[in-house]
Amino acid sequence: MSFVELNLHLSLLKNIDFLGYKEATPIQEKAIPALIEGKDLLGIAKTGSGKTASFVLPVLHQLLGDALREKNRSPKILVLVPTRELAVQVSEVFKVLSLNFSDPIKTMAVYGGVSINPQMKGMYGVDVLIATPGRLLDLHQSNAVELNKVDTLVIDEADKMLNLGFQKEMEQIINLLPKKRQNMLFSATLSKQLSGLNKVLLSEPVVIEIETKVEDVELINLSGYFVSDDRKGPLLRYIIKEQDMQQVLVFASSGLKADKIAGKLNKNGIQALSIHGKKSQSARINALNKFKDGELRVLVATDLISRGIDINNLPYVINYELPRSPKDFVHRVGRTGRAENKGMAICLVDREQTHHLKVILKKMKRYIDMIDSETLEF
Ligand code: ADP
Ligand code: MG
Repeated sequence: MSFVELNLHLSLLKNIDFLGYKEATPIQEKAIPALIEGKDLLGIAKTGSGKTASFVLPVLHQLLGDALREKNRSPKILVLVPTRELAVQVSEVFKVLSLNFSDPIKTMAVYGGVSINPQMKGMYGVDVLIATPGRLLDLHQSNAVELNKVDTLVIDEADKMLNLGFQKEMEQIINLLPKKRQNMLFSATLSKQLSGLNKVLLSEPVVIEIETKVEDVELINLSGYFVSDDRKGPLLRYIIKEQDMQQVLVFASSGLKADKIAGKLNKNGIQALSIHGKKSQSARINALNKFKDGELRVLVATDLISRGIDINNLPYVINYELPRSPKDFVHRVGRTGRAENKGMAICLVDREQTHHLKVILKKMKRYIDMIDSETLEF
């Protein structure tokens, strides 16, 4: 379906054109009309299927219809995301899709790890606030922001946000919002039974679940190697060189491990940086930007980066270790094979982890051809 048929505001259609989007993706086609009608919505669709624009477009469409927007410290739109990097990315989508509006819309991303002062100052006149929960609460406590005018709440990566890790902060935030508001929840992995959903989705929500087609699944080619832990480093270097990989995202189980892997790669002449929660925010931004721009060959990350981060045409993801939860596996490999592009995900698996690998594959309804690394010379 074309975006014109979705009856979006002309200013939006121009920006969609500028981005080169020809057709709405299935989740966009279904979610946008329901959201424009003001419904609460739960949107479930695979990674890389365009969920961001599914909420950005109807939100901007509604803002364009508003008569006079007051300038104050009370944003009307609040978007909650789990990581700083995702906050920045989502705010960029809001910004490009609202370019050249006759009445400009102010979007701001706020997150921890950087000075709070510019965020406090920048709050005046914000229409769309994208935030990680902790920093939002800090800003609220400092009276830099009021949340009692929020009429639209978006929760991206909703299953993660409603999970234990964020529970307390999310409850505090929800309590600060007006009861009457529109709620939009999105995720690739979300169970409709998730407890906590009913606290957020107050009125009868529309549930849209886009089934992943077999062809879609096959956009990501899965393969794996059985390899003992001590041989993983050499194997990783061998694979990168052998397949002449120029842009590869490697997932490790901890920040410490990520640093070690990146260090070893550099020592062996393969340019790499690591990214994880213990790094300074400037180092995180620098590493991710370089990687997105194609100036960095290998980015070694923890699951910090597994959620929502969009890297154009990323060809390879390597799991140096398997994640504990199958959900994280889905998100990790979903960094490749986005927007109908092809991608390849490779797993390095210790034989002791065979059972865990089977559990993950069963959840994903996938099969992997495993190569025994003993048969390779590296
Ligand atoms: P998700 O949140 O579902 O994982 P994103 O919203 O990050 O996916 O979008 C994935 C990629 O698809 C982005 O690079 C985005 O620019 C692109 N995209 C989104 N909608 C469209 C569309 N209608 N046509 C083409 N590309 C699109
Ligand atoms: Mg997303």
